[in-house]
Amino acid sequence: MRFLFLLTPFLLLCTASCDNEEPVSDDDFFLVVKEYPTATKDFWPYLQSFERESAQRGNEINLSNSGISLTYKGNDGLSEEEEPTGTCYHNPEDPNTIVINFADFNNSTRYAREKIIFHELGHCSLNRDHDDSEYSDGNCKSLMKSSVADCLLVYDAESKQAYLDELFSK
Ligand SMILES: [Zn+2]
Repeated sequence: MRFLFLLTPFLLLCTASCDNEEPVSDDDFFLVVKEYPTATKDFWPYLQSFERESAQRGNEINLSNSGISLTYKGNDGLSEEEEPTGTCYHNPEDPNTIVINFADFNNSTRYAREKIIFHELGHCSLNRDHDDSEYSDGNCKSLMKSSVADCLLVYDAESKQAYLDELFSK
């Protein structure tokens, strides 16, 4: 009985933390081993992470020769509401161009930055459309939710793997 009593807290602790371990440390995340000539350097760790997460799910992607460009766009006099946080352009003059709002990006956490970039790469690299479907608890099922969706999208160390499984499954 005493043994069980001691074991239970350990099991609970393990369930809460062991399943969601980040395989890549912060230092490794920002250590970029290749170049992405069509992207602003701040975005390179996120492009490398996107490639790594895709490869872990069986799909090798090379964003350094994909023709996708990724740059900042300043506010240019627009208010925060008028300018989206990130956009993937598919038009013929500007095929596969992603622009990221400078102010929003630099005021964000690493996970928020990854959420923005992975969403736009979902459009530009994976050719995915928006998906506003949600679970019964109100959480979004997909990182590809549109800006008008009512569902809640919390992308963090805990939820990341499930959202990436969904992102790379289609
Ligand atoms: Zn979108």
